[in-house]
Amino acid sequence: MTRIRVKLDARRERSYTVEILPGLLTMLPRRLARMMGGGRVFIITDTRVARLYGRGLRRNLRTKGVDARLIAVAPGERSKNSSTVNRLHTRLLHGEIGRDSTIVALGGGVVGDLAGYVAATVLRGVRLIQVPTTLLAQVDSSVGGKVGIDHPAGKNLIGAFYQPTAVFIDPLLLRTLPEREFRNGMAEVVKIAAALDRHFFDFIAARMPAIMRREPEILNSVIARSVRLKGHVVERDEYEAGLRKTLNLGHTFGHALEASSGFRVKHGYAVAIGLASESALAVRMGILREAERVRLLSVLRAAGLPTRMPKRVVTKAFLDALAMDKKNVGGETRFVLLTRIGSCATGAKVPTDLVRNSALGKDIYRGEEGIRAPRGGTAGSASRP
Ligand code: ADP
Ligand code: ZN
Repeated sequence: MTRIRVKLDARRERSYTVEILPGLLTMLPRRLARMMGGGRVFIITDTRVARLYGRGLRRNLRTKGVDARLIAVAPGERSKNSSTVNRLHTRLLHGEIGRDSTIVALGGGVVGDLAGYVAATVLRGVRLIQVPTTLLAQVDSSVGGKVGIDHPAGKNLIGAFYQPTAVFIDPLLLRTLPEREFRNGMAEVVKIAAALDRHFFDFIAARMPAIMRREPEILNSVIARSVRLKGHVVERDEYEAGLRKTLNLGHTFGHALEASSGFRVKHGYAVAIGLASESALAVRMGILREAERVRLLSVLRAAGLPTRMPKRVVTKAFLDALAMDKKNVGGETRFVLLTRIGSCATGAKVPTDLVRNSALGKDIYRGEEGIRAPRGGTAGSASRP
């Protein structure tokens, strides 16, 4: 069992533990029964995860004498909206949710964000337990307390910081995860390693085939290391005033790509392309060595992720989406840029023509391997070969 403590304030009231163990789901009923002290448990999940794991969890909780209910929404991003929140609030209130009740968010990132937001708002907040079931949710979104929903104006625009009471991660749940969802989560693993931990990056690079085969032991280490890194960042900067921005590596372009594709490009895939194209910007600006960019690209590819802007992305839509980004400060898009694998700089200003060129797919780097950086990697100019 790996136990990671996320320490949030001196009084430790809001601190919580992330537990990682293969088979943890089957031990959960006993653990929850002990923690609950008689309160009701509402498992919020999606219909697919309900079938795979939710019903079993409800049954086992009931066997332990816990009053457990299961509420399932439709799978996918389309459930992350205010009308679903409304319906969930109604179900919970009709189900007599009380201050001593607990919401268990059982599912991927969508369920975690949605159920977390519902837990933060119903009765001004009830206890929340995250049980992430996708790789993306296990390594990234279940830790850190960001909860929320989408708005017609954009993704994740409505939400709150609401920390869970505990996070229970069972890597065995990933056995049923479709390949594309697994890769989707790998983008965040590569991101966190590239942004913060060179050793971890080397580890992933060396063991990618075993990771992609989902060998349990290696998967366990990958999840534990990612959570530990994210936990450290969140401890130091819970509300994203500074350090936490490093976790947005690849996300400036990533978000714009997701939005301008009408969300047809999945988050992790967009982040992978974002990592690749933002690292090209970093090389162009002379702050990242070309060899580092090439290495990042090869690791992304080994994880089965794309590294090039899709041709069908409409440039204007992409640039408009970039301009809408929440990270805009004083009307300017700020980037998190890699300086070397394992470290990055936040708040970087990038000349508009460089950004435009990348968006147009005119950047000489566009994810092409074998195309060399200008000598010395100090390419300040936007000239093309
Ligand atoms: P993300 O974590 O990428 O935000 P979602 O919450 O949208 O993803 O989940 C992605 C899809 O994977 C959904 O259709 C969901 O039902 C499904 N899913 C989640 N966990 C599992 C699992 N352990 N096995 C199989 N499918 C799963
Ligand atoms: Zn992300």
